[in-house]
Amino acid sequence: MAAEEVPLWTTTPVSTGIGEAQCPANAIKGTAVEIGRCISCGYCSPAFQPDGDPRTSIIRSTEKAFRKSFHIYLFDAGSCGSCNLEIKALGNPYYDMSRLGISFCATPKHADALIVVGVLADGMSAPLKKAVEALPSPRLVFAVGACAISGGIIGKSISGIVEADVVVPGCPPNPFTILDALQKSRGDRS
Ligand code: SF4
Ligand code: SF4
Repeated sequence: MAAEEVPLWTTTPVSTGIGEAQCPANAIKGTAVEIGRCISCGYCSPAFQPDGDPRTSIIRSTEKAFRKSFHIYLFDAGSCGSCNLEIKALGNPYYDMSRLGISFCATPKHADALIVVGVLADGMSAPLKKAVEALPSPRLVFAVGACAISGGIIGKSISGIVEADVVVPGCPPNPFTILDALQKSRGDRS
């Protein structure tokens, strides 16, 4: 799949000026969409249509030390499972993140980046705190998916525990967007 062929509703909805928009996630602010709240449902069509650009991540800080070797740990704070599946897809032969020196690791103690998905379930606050504390430096924290970024439509974001260095919107984000964010976070490209 080329970048241009990602599912359109995983990209940013923009105003068309046609009709009234309704948004169950309260993501629409006037003529703009707060992308971290968007759950990619398409309910705002035709007043909004996706712009087709899958490079939607927001990079707040980068770490060049991870350019050749980048170990990531997936932390589920309370997800539906779909963000997890899209992240796991990075290891398949299609996306093949290993060719870029990116691999999964089994503990936050060995991780360069914590990749957090899901709303922050009450029982996961303490484990998330522990996982963040266990990360060696330098380190990056990713919030992947509307749930982790904003709490989505049902819960709390992870921002009460940790501020993400990298935000990857979507519900779920497609693997291309996640891989693009991983590469940008280590300064591979802007
Ligand atoms: S796609 Fe859904 S969540 Fe996103 S702005 Fe449109 S209505 Fe709101
Ligand atoms: S952002 Fe969407 S896909 Fe990801 S965990 Fe939340 S509900 Fe599931």
